[in-house]
Amino acid sequence: MNFSKSEQLFERAKVVIPGGVNSPVRAFKAVGGKPFFAARAEGAYLFDVDGNDFVDYVGTWGPAILGHAPACVRAAVGEALQRGTSFGVPGELEVAMALTVTDWVPSVEMVRMCNSGTEATMSCVRLARGFTGRDKIIKFAGCYHGHVDSLLVKAGSGALTMGAPDSAGVPAALAAETICLPFNDLPALEQAFAADGGRIAAVIVEPVPANAGLIPPSAGFLQQLRALTLRHGALLIFDEVMTGFRVGRAGVQGLTGITPDLSAFGKVIGGGLPVGAFGGRRDIMEQLAPLGPVYQAGTLSGNPLALAAGLAQLRELDADDGFARLERLGAKLEAGARSLLAAKKLPWQFHRLGSLWCLFFTGREVKNLADAQTADLAAFNKYFHAMLAGGVYVPPSQFETCFLSLAHDEPELDRTLTVMDRALA
Ligand SMILES: *Cc1c(COP(=O)(O)O)cnc(C)c1O
Repeated sequence: MNFSKSEQLFERAKVVIPGGVNSPVRAFKAVGGKPFFAARAEGAYLFDVDGNDFVDYVGTWGPAILGHAPACVRAAVGEALQRGTSFGVPGELEVAMALTVTDWVPSVEMVRMCNSGTEATMSCVRLARGFTGRDKIIKFAGCYHGHVDSLLVKAGSGALTMGAPDSAGVPAALAAETICLPFNDLPALEQAFAADGGRIAAVIVEPVPANAGLIPPSAGFLQQLRALTLRHGALLIFDEVMTGFRVGRAGVQGLTGITPDLSAFGKVIGGGLPVGAFGGRRDIMEQLAPLGPVYQAGTLSGNPLALAAGLAQLRELDADDGFARLERLGAKLEAGARSLLAAKKLPWQFHRLGSLWCLFFTGREVKNLADAQTADLAAFNKYFHAMLAGGVYVPPSQFETCFLSLAHDEPELDRTLTVMDRALA
């Protein structure tokens, strides 16, 4: 494959954009090499500026659940565009979106729209602190909640270590309010509540972590988490920015029957435009301005183009039995990948939830971030570059999840498995 135009663009970009990219993972740093620049995207395919095409398993990091640029989204955005790009007063689509979210996700009695998943989680944390009058937050290592100061914190050694910032520029005093625990570790959670229960405003969790690879919760872990938060008067925040509207109409909470107090959404709900949303219990949401004392706002929040795109995407997913079809496509890919692994006697772990999947290059069962970090990164990088050379684009890091879309049909899955067969050689 020739990447000369992408290489030229990357050189120019690096002069005027930090690292040449507007979000770090796009720089391909983890896998080495240089990123390719997109010319356009349609269905399951990304087309780059050098004329290469790729079966795309990144799907713009989650939003493209119908495939790229689906006709329904293009039509809805085109229509909305004729009426204006932003109003600064309330609009009809905002009511339609709020009714859709509260209908699909029973725990969400009220919802507010914002512009990214980061804004959604940030607002959930502020709201939880405002509602409870407490400052401490529990999060889990390997769960990503956007680039919110309080949430850019990883575990130190020992389960109860106070958070150390994961990024320069996060005040230590703020990080100290975040307790970071290993995922799926119930004793660590019980200990944290025993030590600090009265000061914990909320636990925020990706109920199925998908930002350290894809990690399933152990049986009963989320149920115990719900019970502990209730017992100690802390709120439970499900960050379903990745899983919401992807693993089913009501996300992981719908699959597990667990009712969180607050939920954060993004990605699929925006149909490929910049959108986030958060919502939950009415008595908590009523603490938001202008009703209550917790401030939150946004010039472009509830943007008509973004909501038109999101609503069109959600309707099409629902109308067309989309979640069941995604499950069938996922099962087919899983069966193919597992038979390749078995034939080659490779111990790698294949994880999947509906249209989310991940291949961990480790022989160890992966239940948390530390397990994921036992992966053979050199083997992953070799696989990544071999997949790319074969025209299949998987995320450029072992610690990311692959996204299937409804546009990934038999020909794309067959091409993927053929290339995977060679890439795993
Ligand atoms: C992507 C993601 C976010 C951040 O969303 P942005 O729109 O990138 O700000 C937060 N939480 C989870 C679980 C995510 O996957």
